[in-house]
Amino acid sequence: MAARILVVEDNQANITLFQYVLVAGGYTVLLATSGEEGLSLAVEHRPDLVLLDLRLPEMDGYQVAATLRTHPELSATRIVALTASAMLGDRERIAAAGFDGYIQKPIEPATFIVQVQRCLATMRPHSASGGARSA
Ligand code: MN
Repeated sequence: MAARILVVEDNQANITLFQYVLVAGGYTVLLATSGEEGLSLAVEHRPDLVLLDLRLPEMDGYQVAATLRTHPELSATRIVALTASAMLGDRERIAAAGFDGYIQKPIEPATFIVQVQRCLATMRPHSASGGARSA
């Protein structure tokens, strides 16, 4: 069964590119253009991986990731930030918000698909414990 990937991104050019590359890579792709829509699709479809833009209107990616992490049924879901800047402070904030990692934009398709494969090959360390995470 093809892995399911939820892309939460508000930039149409990025949406088109991510969808094209991921579908070509054999993945099933779900799309959301806001954090609120991303949350409801994640709860409904339980994707294997969420690729989450940090800069979204209203609810930003950090808030979406933190909210996703409150859902025990999503404890095995990998959440990866899509970010144009990943300075040292950003990386710490990304990890603290519950993300499993980040991918820097703009993406290069061949590198991007390898990063996605690598994310999917890695089990979340907390998934066996039912999503319990220390605060
Ligand atoms: Mn954005």
